[in-house]
Amino acid sequence: MSRNHDHNLPRRDFLKSLSFGAAGAFTLGLPRSLPGAQNAPATAPKRPNIIIFLADDMGWQDTSVPFHSHRTPNNDWFHTPHMDRLARQGIKFTDAYAACPVCSPTRISLLTGQSPARTRITDWIGAPASNAQAKPENEKLIIPPWNAAGLQHDAQTLPRILKANGYKTWHVGKAHFAAKGASGADPRNLGFDVNVAGTHLGHPGSYYAAAGYKARNGGNPVPDLEEFQKAGVYLTDALTIAANRLIDAAIDHPDAQPFFLHMAHYAVHAPIEGDPNRLARYRDRGMSNAQIQYASMIESMDASLGSIMDKLQQRGIADNTIILFFSDNGGLVSHSGPPTINAPLRAGKGSAYEGGTRVPLIVKQPGIAKPGSVCCEPVISDDIFPTVLSMAGIDNRDRFTQRIDGRDLSPLLQQTRTFARDGPIHWHFPHYWGSPTLRPKGSGVAPYSAIRRGPWKLIHFYEEARAELYDLEHDIGEQKDLAAAEPAIARRLADDLRAWLLAAGAQLPVDRLTQQPVPPPAVLPSDRKA
Ligand code: CA
Repeated sequence: MSRNHDHNLPRRDFLKSLSFGAAGAFTLGLPRSLPGAQNAPATAPKRPNIIIFLADDMGWQDTSVPFHSHRTPNNDWFHTPHMDRLARQGIKFTDAYAACPVCSPTRISLLTGQSPARTRITDWIGAPASNAQAKPENEKLIIPPWNAAGLQHDAQTLPRILKANGYKTWHVGKAHFAAKGASGADPRNLGFDVNVAGTHLGHPGSYYAAAGYKARNGGNPVPDLEEFQKAGVYLTDALTIAANRLIDAAIDHPDAQPFFLHMAHYAVHAPIEGDPNRLARYRDRGMSNAQIQYASMIESMDASLGSIMDKLQQRGIADNTIILFFSDNGGLVSHSGPPTINAPLRAGKGSAYEGGTRVPLIVKQPGIAKPGSVCCEPVISDDIFPTVLSMAGIDNRDRFTQRIDGRDLSPLLQQTRTFARDGPIHWHFPHYWGSPTLRPKGSGVAPYSAIRRGPWKLIHFYEEARAELYDLEHDIGEQKDLAAAEPAIARRLADDLRAWLLAAGAQLPVDRLTQQPVPPPAVLPSDRKA
């Protein structure tokens, strides 16, 4: 709830009591003629517009904004002046996480406030529902029967609640919320008034208009963009133009409803196809073609952020529009070039290690969040749902029909109270990602659950029923496993993780040889029944 909203509530209550007689007013101890009461606004204060600007597969280091304690070579390689601009106007979160190292589960956690363990949408939409036929030498575990259909039309989503509270709600870009043919595949069935280019698809066939935004072998065209295809517009720019038109139309319309824009770029997911107008800066610097192409994709995505920020400024609504910049999983380092590195983080997309889930988060909340500030509290994508509702002044959590795993981050944004998460943050990914060649030993790409409390992170790998413990404050690269050296800490985290998985109804993989579910996380086998 905004400060203005708080400030005005008693006055509105007082005016309401006057209309039914003065007694109520006197019980509040207020004089009969309240100064300024007659001139008080009859309507609620203007609620903020809210933009979630979501990049796809963008790593924590794929930006010129330093999210680490010091600048890195990546910060000098990538060119994201508008992320810098946003960070100067808002708060940078150094320890923000995606709920999953792959796309859909994080996206859905953001829309529902629920952990993937709870929704059982634990893998990317379109991934095989089962790996039961895989070779045992490749995949030791059988993945559980997860919710491969994805989000359904009756889900209680962020846009649906915002819409019910007077917001215009728009989705632009990649959706990837539900399987082809399922009701949730169309964002309009999930509470969005408008959908531009969002379907069951998890990536574009192509970023190029000349290719019809579809792959060479046909299929996977991004829909709704015929006009831009004819004009030869790069996909990222096309989505930006579409979003800015929606903003213009909303301002020009007399109803003055606030808007919620879910600006979910296809960029920078594969295929790694650079922006032809933004390649020059990266050539002749000794980098691979994939890195050059990818850097231009990042710059193009950043230019989209800048274009939307310019639009808000031009239309006079920048001071009443909140922007949350986020990515749905870590940077891609296993194939397609690879296009980036996540150093100092270990591994990347698909992995249990920090490279898989730590992502950039910047929040601009005008008048609330202190410009240019930094927050090192661990936060996760589940938190965005209750945070945005709070920003919109909507407090109807008691009427939610579902358990919300996320926490309202407003105390961190306001910097006025101590933020007290009543527990650690958790991950649950009981899946194999990619082909066996993309997950060599040590990549951390294997069925796992994990937990972070303070600087400590424990990862439980199900194949080997083995836990690794890292002190992220001193070892952000997860090089030194402290499970044996710090058994008390490891055991406490494993106990907590096991209890949380049980409470969330998380599904565990099945051992292919024994046909029994694998044991839940524990440091020692004897701990499991504790
Ligand atoms: Ca992704």
